[in-house]
Amino acid sequence: MTDDLGRVTMTHILIVEDDQEIAQLVRDYLDRSGYRTSVAYDGDEALVAARNGNPDLIVLDMGLPKRDGLDVLREIRMHARTPIVILTARGEETDRIVGLELGADDYIVKPFSPREVVARVRAVLRRSTAPDDERQVMYRGSMEIDIPRMRVAIEGQPIDLTATEFQLLTTMARRP
Ligand code: CA
Repeated sequence: MTDDLGRVTMTHILIVEDDQEIAQLVRDYLDRSGYRTSVAYDGDEALVAARNGNPDLIVLDMGLPKRDGLDVLREIRMHARTPIVILTARGEETDRIVGLELGADDYIVKPFSPREVVARVRAVLRRSTAPDDERQVMYRGSMEIDIPRMRVAIEGQPIDLTATEFQLLTTMARRP
């Protein structure tokens, strides 16, 4: 990442997680991988930190005190495209689907290995810093994939896809 003057700065990851042990573990791994990290422990704190801390990516737990993760996600997406990786509990498929529909970039299911978090963060950052034409609308043959709007059309005809199917398709289209 670069600042306004074009200087290279450390990529800042905001970790939102009320479980202090998990937060610390994720933080340690991200720190060691060369990221700058900060932590918010509840939904209200998360919104303040997302606004004022100017993070490059947010790792967002879904089960949070004060304001749940989906609520935080919805609120952030109203004014920012900051990449967001959500953490969901095993079995909470609804959280994952709603999260992706609300604009989360990826999800990790608990319990996870901290290495997986680092790998996902890296992958999402790589995608989000790709050139604009790659992350806005992709054209593959007669297929048009509108990523921000999560819409797919073949020869101009819209195709109904679930959020998961859309993610799969986008991933495959990126690596033909
Ligand atoms: Ca939690």
